[in-house]
Amino acid sequence: GLIKLNTNENPYPPSPAVARMLADFAAESLRLYPDPVCAALRARIAAQAGVGSENVFVGNGSDEVLRLVTRAFTRPGGAAAAFAPSYSLYPVLAAAEEVGYRTVPLADDFGWTEPPADLDASLFFLANPNAPTGVFYPLPAIESFCRRFPGVVLVDEAYVDFSGGRNALELAKKLPNVLVARTMSKSFSFAGLRIGWTIGSADLIGALYKLKDSYNVDRLAQALALAALGDWPWMEANARKIVATRERVAAELEKRGFRVVPSASNFLFVEPPAGRSAARLFADLREKKILVRYFPGGRTDNFLRVSIGTDAQMDAFFAAI
Ligand code: PMP
Repeated sequence: GLIKLNTNENPYPPSPAVARMLADFAAESLRLYPDPVCAALRARIAAQAGVGSENVFVGNGSDEVLRLVTRAFTRPGGAAAAFAPSYSLYPVLAAAEEVGYRTVPLADDFGWTEPPADLDASLFFLANPNAPTGVFYPLPAIESFCRRFPGVVLVDEAYVDFSGGRNALELAKKLPNVLVARTMSKSFSFAGLRIGWTIGSADLIGALYKLKDSYNVDRLAQALALAALGDWPWMEANARKIVATRERVAAELEKRGFRVVPSASNFLFVEPPAGRSAARLFADLREKKILVRYFPGGRTDNFLRVSIGTDAQMDAFFAAI
């Protein structure tokens, strides 16, 4: 009976092509190991992106991609860096690798802030649109940063299918130090299946293939991902529905006195009206079986992150607040 608006999952099912593939899947084939390098899946992703297979790494969700990127592109005694606030997994990955983690505080409106020239890090995690804010940074600013940053820039585009067609793929094609990461968890409704990938120069991609587990993406996931990628229009229509709901919810929240950070993702980062605390609203919503995300402390202390659900779920959310 819970309404889950807390982990940015997609409220709609994946393409019917996925259900068909699942029904037809030969369970007998599970006795065999999967393709260790996801050849068919990489070829499909590469064709869609206009790159070669050697430019594509497929992982067990983009979280695996991020972990391998941290491992590959930091060194003992070194550091990774990111904006603050940003995706909460980045500092965890740096800590797991026992490297430093530098943060660049975002501007008051959570918009683009130029990282300092003397940033002491070999890897920069650049989530665009950012999480948990949903803000989309200007691509020219990202490009000029990538051109002057001496290390690897990982542009984490987990939410980019909700950004109206803008993305940094061209940067990964033309700059040797840029990786663009995508996930099927959000726009393809595949959070339960674990498929993510990254695109970049063959050197960077090759480093990730040296480090990955032998069979990091299972046989069923590879087959179902291929089916889903064969129905790109379904994903796009699904994303359009969510964007339309997002815009309606944003306008409605503003009418009720919330500050709504402009979002290019499938969630909204909102500050309750003066006199109402985010912590309290979070707890009250939980009582009413509606889960949203709350990041206590610091600059996120009075904000809630609300994933966009179906229109009916968002109506229940409004009734509750
Ligand atoms: N990057 C960002 C910014 C995210 O918010 C998420 C989802 N939590 C991920 C990557 C990871 O997605 P997944 O591992 O499901 O592919």
